[in-house]
Amino acid sequence: MSQVIVVGGGAAGMMAAICSAKEGNQVVLLEKNEKLGKKLFITGKGRCNLTNAGDIEDLMGHVVTNREFLYSAFYSFTNEQMMEWMEHWGCPVKVERGNRVFPVSDKSSDVIRAMERELRRQKVTVELNTEVRRILTEGGRTSGVELKGSGTLKADKVVIATGGMSYPSTGSTGDGYGFAKKAGHKVMHLDPALVPFNIDGTVCSRLQGLSLKNVEASLYADGKRIYKEFGEMLFTHFGISGPIIISASSYAVRYRGKQLKFCIDLKPALSEEQLDQRILKDFQENINKEFKNSLGKLLPKKMIPVILELSGIPEEKKVHEITKNERRKLTALLKAVPLIVTGTRGFKEAIITHGGVDVKEINPSTMESRKVRGLYFAGEVLDLDALTGGYNLQIAWSTGYLAGMN
Ligand SMILES: Cc1cc2nc3c(=O)[nH]c(=O)nc-3n(C[C@H](O)[C@H](O)[C@H](O)COP(=O)(O)OP(=O)(O)OC[C@H]3O[C@@H](n4cnc5c(N)ncnc54)[C@H](O)[C@@H]3O)c2cc1C
Repeated sequence: MSQVIVVGGGAAGMMAAICSAKEGNQVVLLEKNEKLGKKLFITGKGRCNLTNAGDIEDLMGHVVTNREFLYSAFYSFTNEQMMEWMEHWGCPVKVERGNRVFPVSDKSSDVIRAMERELRRQKVTVELNTEVRRILTEGGRTSGVELKGSGTLKADKVVIATGGMSYPSTGSTGDGYGFAKKAGHKVMHLDPALVPFNIDGTVCSRLQGLSLKNVEASLYADGKRIYKEFGEMLFTHFGISGPIIISASSYAVRYRGKQLKFCIDLKPALSEEQLDQRILKDFQENINKEFKNSLGKLLPKKMIPVILELSGIPEEKKVHEITKNERRKLTALLKAVPLIVTGTRGFKEAIITHGGVDVKEINPSTMESRKVRGLYFAGEVLDLDALTGGYNLQIAWSTGYLAGMN
């Protein structure tokens, strides 16, 4: 039996603590907040999209950073096991669109409560309002932790599950990166990911609140397309957000320093030729009207003044005076509305942290450090991130499981 300390009472830490205690260890879970799972509570808009019911290839396919590292973790503790465990712990789950898994109650608090019950059942000692300051090491192995204000705690093994940098109000303030560096680990550059973008100019603020379904967003880095996705997006006072936009940010982080530009295809179901014919038909129906009064069937009302301006065609121009060349330019614009990126929003608004403890220095079968014996890492503190859909929490469960079991 080992004395085990788990630092961080989020998804990964609670899982690690439960699994380690199941293995017969004496486990103390330290959490600096006044309660466990503060970030879990806000996941999935308060409903907690706790995993994804797709097959393992699908899970892997949605991991953006260091996918291969996760093979062992995803096979050792699968999404199906997570769903079974949740049911077994008294929190029934359901599968929704896109294989997203939620508690039947639609309450993230029920996921947290189920895990708290299991922590009690496994006799894990939970210490709240307890902040770890430093990881203690002796002769190349860990010996415990130093606490803020109240001395040290001895242990044979320590699991760092302190999360990332995103939504720091939940307690994820990046402490684990400092612990890792002190232990001799490399920490890969940290960037907010799954986060909205700031866009140059006033187009977005003028469209603020407008949500577009069934559009296609392409992201270019120095002119080269690096991302394309069909779905829903939203204009905000600072730029753009919504599912297909925030996913783009996970890929954009690899192109730091390059010029980033979105092109939004407002009519992805139509080829440029088909759209031109469609516009021609609308123009014929409005032949004696002014240009500004000819786009009502094609575009949401709020968008018309912006498109008029970007098209360069005078808005008062009679439709029958619009040249073929002008119409062609309008068609091209609707297939690719350009939006120049000035940056992403910060960690405060990011769903996940890109970067973190370099996985090359972690054993993927046990989550143990290759630098310090008895030191383990789990969850977002590692340089792992995935797209939305329950994949990030599955990373926390699977890596937490391996750290706990070992
Ligand atoms: C708004 C939002 C919605 C999300 N929705 C989803 C979703 O629906 N599905 C999904 O899969 N993912 C979602 N995510 C991502 C998901 O929440 C994270 O991937 C996951 O919580 C990471 O788990 P973790 O245990 O590694 O870290 P965290 O959950 O961040 O837990 C880390 C814990 O460590 C504690 N801690 C930190 N430093 C110390 C210290 N020095 N001493 C003691 N304790 C410390 C923190 O207080 C915190 O409780 C969402 C994220 C956000 C921000």
